[in-house]
This record gives sequence, structure tokens and C-alpha cells, in this order.
Amino acid sequence: MSSDRPTGTSHGLAAGLLAALLLACTALLGAGSPARAETAGTGPTATTIAEALAAGPVYVDPSYAAAVNPAQQQALVDQIAATGLPINVVLVPLNKGDAFDGDSRTLAAVLRERLGRQQRILITNNEYGKWLTGTEWPTDAHQTRDAASAVGFLKELDDAGLAARIGKAVELIKAGNGTAVYKAETARIDNEYSARPEAEEHASGSSSDSGSGTLIAIAAGLVLAVVGAGLLVRHRLPRHTSFTFPDAVFAAEEAADEAGLRRQAAAEMLALGEAVEHADGATSGLSRALDAYDAAGRVLDAARGLPDLVGVLALAAEGRSALAPTPGLPLCFFDPRHGTAVRRTTWRPLGRRERADVAVCDDCGQALRARRSPQVMAVRHRGRTVPYFEVPAEHSLWAATGYGSLLSGPDDTLAARVGTGEFSRARLQSDDHGGAAAD
Ligand SMILES: [Zn+2]
Repeated sequence: MSSDRPTGTSHGLAAGLLAALLLACTALLGAGSPARAETAGTGPTATTIAEALAAGPVYVDPSYAAAVNPAQQQALVDQIAATGLPINVVLVPLNKGDAFDGDSRTLAAVLRERLGRQQRILITNNEYGKWLTGTEWPTDAHQTRDAASAVGFLKELDDAGLAARIGKAVELIKAGNGTAVYKAETARIDNEYSARPEAEEHASGSSSDSGSGTLIAIAAGLVLAVVGAGLLVRHRLPRHTSFTFPDAVFAAEEAADEAGLRRQAAAEMLALGEAVEHADGATSGLSRALDAYDAAGRVLDAARGLPDLVGVLALAAEGRSALAPTPGLPLCFFDPRHGTAVRRTTWRPLGRRERADVAVCDDCGQALRARRSPQVMAVRHRGRTVPYFEVPAEHSLWAATGYGSLLSGPDDTLAARVGTGEFSRARLQSDDHGGAAAD
């Protein structure tokens, strides 16, 4: 495996999966160390959570009350009681700079210190919408880590809500076979990813006639209808804001995030492929969804950092939206990892006169109303850590489009921009290799 440079995209993904696993292992082995001081933040403190867990096994912050309502919470309590295992569920907002520094692994480490040494199985939300983090101590006897991770990959849960995902994690923990399920699901994704008809084409740049999957058949019928969009208006971008980031913290987290995110991006892309395959042929957005799937694959193949991987998530969301009866909003402008936006709002960056119309998640919308800075996705550009949207538009398709928020109209899509080469051109413009300082 290490004998040669990987030549195909599937090797890259396999390496990514391996790296993610290794990172997950080291994160857990070192779980005792990173406990940070509790600082004031918007979310609950470890003390609040620990006190609540003394009264019952499920703690749901008010911001998650809609995702897991009281009836669903009670169902989880009952399900946990039936397992006879010391399982706790904790759902809290995770934002950089909060008591857990926006990191589910830190949350678990802090709670572990707080809750004591007895056996405990913890399921929490993690930084990426539908994914869960599982931690068990003193040892991972019930394969909790893999059980929680596996849930994000299970096809049957693609459209399931958070409560159902947690329920599934509890089920896998009780069964004690999380590792086998996790391995099977990630192997499936690795195989599907490398076997998808478009993979070869993208790698070689030629129009191959290999592999006759269903998707190719659909593609044959629809590709003719593809985008002929000309040059699209570039949005002016803010140059100065008041956002600041602790660089060292950011750099370390980015490395850990990237391996996990690559795996998740692949899963989202494949889920979109599935949805396209099973869509009714008369679905009006089918060709758009297919374009988005195709573009997501291209970006994932070429992705060399967190911003590109988040772009895959945005393209997958665009494709899903195209298949929906009514088009939805893009992902949150400030950090697409917050999930699908819930409304659009105008936002004026500090020191700027122009207002931008952006789609925001609920948290970011509330922050803006309260005149607080939203949680912004930061990137490295020319040796500095900046909000991603401050990178000059010609260097980043993502800055130019706000991951979908700043598109100019119904025919202006992320997939169309990737299709006309804007993603590739922006990368050529930028010498900034995924965070290396160049300047
Ligand atoms: Zn947000």
C-alpha cells in the first residue's frame, strides 16, 4: 500500500479513510489530555451537562429540542434503559471558542473528567450535522466509537432525523458489532466511489466509454441538456472584518478535520448518486442533480483541503435540493458545515458599505440579530487565517459563490461553475496548497 504513489482516486480515498481511522484512534487514546478550561460561551458548560446527566441519561440543549423533541427524548431514555448499559446522550451546540472549542472529542474528554472513572458510554452530536461521536471508557468494550461513526454511513438512515440516528447508535452499541458495521459501510463507500463510472473519466481527462452503470445511462439521456452558461458575474468580496482566529488551534483542528471530512464528503456524494438513481425519471431537477453529482465527484477527486471538501458537501446539497419538490436554501453561508440554511438575510461586513444577501443557519441568524459575529469557517490563505469568503474570488470558487449563497439566479449553480472550469481555474490562480503559507 505504501510502495508507490497512489495513482487513482480510490487509493486516495482509501488513504483518507485510513488516516481518518488513525486520527480517530489517537484522538481517543489521548482523550485524557485536552480538557480545556470552561469559558463563557453560548452553550452549556460541562457542569450543567454533568448535573443533568445525574438526573437522566439524555441531555438535549434547547437548540436541539426541535431535532429531538420531548417524545423522542423519552423514547431514547426508554431504549437506553432496556439495554441495561450506562449510555448517555448529549446534544449541545459546538462552536469554536465555546467551552469545548467546537469539538465533539473535546466535549467527550471534558465530560469524561467530570463524570468520573466508572464505565460510561457517551453519544454526542459532532461538528458535522448528521454525524455522531461515540466515546466509551474505561475501554471501548461495546465498540461505541465505531457504532456512532457507522450510523452516518448507513444508507437506510440517509433521510432519517437525529433521533433515529441516535436510536440506531444505541442499537449497535447494545449489539456490540459497531466495528463490523463500520468496516462494511466504509468499504462499501470506498468501492462505490472507485467504481462509479465517472471516476476514470475524471482521473484521465478523457471521455471514456467504460463501465455502464445506471448513472451513465441516465447521463446519456441528460448530458445534452447541460449548462451552457457563459461567464458569470463575480461577487465583490469583503476585505476586512473583525473575525479573528487562534491560528495554532485552527491548524491542528484542520488537520484532524480534513481526514474525517473527506470520508463524509464521499458519503454525501454517493448518497446523492443513490438519490439520482432512484429518482422518478420525470423529476424536473434530475439533470441538475446529475450535474451536481458529477461536479461533486470532480471536486472530491481534486480536493486538496478543507474548503474543497466542504464544497463537495455544498454540491451534494445542491443536488439534493434539485431533486426536492421545491428548491431549498443552500448550506449556511458562514460555515456550510452548520448545515442547510433556514433563511436568507442581509449582512453587511464590518467596514463595508455593500450588503450581501446570504443564507444562514439558525445559530448564525441569531448571532447576526444580536450583533454578534457568527461562527465563520476560516481558511489559510497566503499565510494568514481568514474567513473563507475573504479569499479573492479569482482564487476560490467558494469565496466567489459563498458555497451557494451568492449565486446570481436559478441558472447559476455551483455545478455549472464547476462545469465551466471555474473551480480548476481558481485553483491554478492560487498557489496556496491547502494551508501552506505562500507569500
Ligand atoms: Zn451558520
